[in-house]
Amino acid sequence: MNRGSGETRGGVNLPALRGYNEALVLDLLRAAGPAGRGRAELAARTGLTPQAVSKIMVRLAAEGLVAEAGRAASTGGKPRTLLRLEAGARHAVGVHLDRDELRAVRVDLAGGVLAECAGPLDFGAGPDAVVAAVVRAVGRVCDPAGPPLLGVGAAAPGPLDHRAGVMGRVTGFPSWEGFPLREVLEGWLGLPVLLDKDTNAGAAGAGPAPRSWPAAGGAAEAGASVYLHVASGLGAGLRLDGEVYRGARSAAGEFGHQVLQLDGPRCRCGARGCAEVLCLAAVARADLPEAARIVGEGAANLVALLDVERVVLGGRVVAAAPEVFVSGVRAVLAARALTQPPPEVAVAATGVAEGAAQLLLAPFFGRT
Ligand SMILES: [Zn+2]
Repeated sequence: MNRGSGETRGGVNLPALRGYNEALVLDLLRAAGPAGRGRAELAARTGLTPQAVSKIMVRLAAEGLVAEAGRAASTGGKPRTLLRLEAGARHAVGVHLDRDELRAVRVDLAGGVLAECAGPLDFGAGPDAVVAAVVRAVGRVCDPAGPPLLGVGAAAPGPLDHRAGVMGRVTGFPSWEGFPLREVLEGWLGLPVLLDKDTNAGAAGAGPAPRSWPAAGGAAEAGASVYLHVASGLGAGLRLDGEVYRGARSAAGEFGHQVLQLDGPRCRCGARGCAEVLCLAAVARADLPEAARIVGEGAANLVALLDVERVVLGGRVVAAAPEVFVSGVRAVLAARALTQPPPEVAVAATGVAEGAAQLLLAPFFGRT
């Protein structure tokens, strides 16, 4: 979806847009959780007519996607029927292909994790071995007797072409360049597959931004948040005005290769003094406060550039010492803040595999 200024994000009462209207309603019900919402509220928030909402509800109920959540007291008249998302009606799988580890999860429509598996992975073993490992992992988390699977979201190290589903020249793993990972996985799995960078999945896993309601005629929510992934590499996922921002060549978020020290040590990308080479060196000598300071300096550059309001930290290096990273990054951001207050700093609530599943589910809820 474009983030143009004249865009209408709300419901439109045209038959051709029925699918999008259904997605909008499902997104509102997802946000409401088990408590559900009434038809009149759904109509008011989407800008759809009550009749249109009722028709959508009949269709969604026939597909098993919504159920009654109970009744709410009304001011006079009969009590309102509340409707909720039937989160278990569809499932999705998310897979995180890290350089040395593979993790897969099966989630419901609310993002709840129903099954997971993890194990070592040698990304350098090349596409054939890795594809076989992914197919095995998906089979392990799937339930053949369960509800329909909407597809598989796969998150891998960048660079890669998100739209074409093709891998790029992953630093240190030249055999991957040009490999059509999405198409090959779809062939093996017989399911729709989405391929995205691990950092974008991390940004998606940090939670969907709330829509601005009422949607009709309203602007997209403003603001920037970043997800910083610290593991075998250093990368960023950007969420600008509510949407994951990838850039025209899926190349946005190369956070780790911003130069922090002009005459610093050589990085694997060829440049000197990149945030990644400095940070990983600090991690290697177990100086995590220094690693956190370097992440913080890089984050402060992003904050100044994009007016970032929220910095979310993830990846296994952060998970091993979350307090060190949160306090270290927070201290640098506070010291370098050009705008008050400095951004909020938090640890990611979910992993990259969960985020990959969220990216796969996004269109189901009318999001990108
Ligand atoms: Zn570099």
